[in-house]
Amino acid sequence: MHFALINDQMVAAKQGLKGSCRGCGQPVIAKCGTVRVHHWAHQRSEMCDSWWEAEKEWHRSWKNNFPHLWQEFFMLDIHTDEKHIADVRTDQGLVIEFQHSPIKPEERIAREKFYNDMVWVIDGTRLIHDYPRFLKGQNQIIASSQSGIFNVYDPEKCFPSAWLNSSVPVLFDFLGNESITNPLDFRSPLYCLFPIRVGRRGTLARIPRRAFVKTTINGEWSLRVKRIMSELLKARKEWQDQKEGSERSWQLHELQMSQLNKGRG
Ligand SMILES: [Zn+2]
Repeated sequence: MHFALINDQMVAAKQGLKGSCRGCGQPVIAKCGTVRVHHWAHQRSEMCDSWWEAEKEWHRSWKNNFPHLWQEFFMLDIHTDEKHIADVRTDQGLVIEFQHSPIKPEERIAREKFYNDMVWVIDGTRLIHDYPRFLKGQNQIIASSQSGIFNVYDPEKCFPSAWLNSSVPVLFDFLGNESITNPLDFRSPLYCLFPIRVGRRGTLARIPRRAFVKTTINGEWSLRVKRIMSELLKARKEWQDQKEGSERSWQLHELQMSQLNKGRG
């Protein structure tokens, strides 16, 4: 964890400090070695959130785009007493989870259910095939009538399968810890895959990093996502109706043909 409580103040880990966990209240000690990012660890027990993953520089630098009070936000389900730490939770209730390590489908689903209003930001540099796959899949990605929004004809050819069935938007960060030197670098923006498919077709948004941070902080993000999702639901309904309609007319055509053939025989 980045922060612990010392005299009710949020304090970052510094050599020799002791504090208490903001979630469970247990004593934590500052770990300030040279291998891992400086962090707080529970002194006598395991980390109190089973979903927690060891932080990398990547997590830390993403989280630091947001106010300290929004980082490592403890959330409690009052019905089940389940408690988890959201990487970032905005004051409007949007949870942003920065995911570097692999995650089991059951845990991904459980986290999406627990946090509900959330987005994933995935470290697209951990696996060597993720970015080459995305580049190779560019012929699947076609501009839509809206600026910055694209249709992805076969999302499987562009993105890792672990993230294709998510029920919330998934943003891929293919830059990782590198800093952007060339704004035209393909890895410069984030790529957001939306959860709703129209047939096989997915929807992708290309989002400048700064715009993602700015709009999640000022709340515009959730409004835009809501609008895109409702357009997608409508498009999916139209697609389904059209498909059912053409299936019905095909069945009718087959029925007419078989009656015609019977009449002839
Ligand atoms: Zn704890």
